[in-house]
Amino acid sequence: MNQEDCIFCKIIKGEIPSNKIYENDLVYAFTDINPAAPQHFLVIPKVHKASLNEFDDNDRELLGEILLTAKKIASEKGFDQDGYRTIINTGKDGGQTVHHLHLHVLAGRALTWPPG
Ligand code: 5GP
Ligand code: ZN
Repeated sequence: MNQEDCIFCKIIKGEIPSNKIYENDLVYAFTDINPAAPQHFLVIPKVHKASLNEFDDNDRELLGEILLTAKKIASEKGFDQDGYRTIINTGKDGGQTVHHLHLHVLAGRALTWPPG
């Protein structure tokens, strides 16, 4: 899938509506349309990169920003102390279905481990 057809690129551009939580120059965060927990957010880079496999040493700041945005959301939403889970699914075996890298942030219930 190329960038023009990417649903998350369309969300960033406002062509597909989303429930925005946070945005800055590097990242965009919004509510997952099919929540797997009482609170479920996605943090995505504004630049289109299909998966973690496309990141390299030049992306250290961007990767840090994605993770720190998750922490910021956790703190602002008030689930930082009870805890939460951050997940990046990569590729077929990782269960990735949208091919624009995204960090899942799940909270609001005790999550089981290991995942299925
Ligand atoms: P993946 O399986 O690729 O790790 O996760 C993709 C996530 O994107 C899923 O949790 C799915 O619910 C979410 N998602 C897919 N399409 C949309 C959409 O159009 N809007 C929003 N907000 N989330 C979406
Ligand atoms: Zn994209």
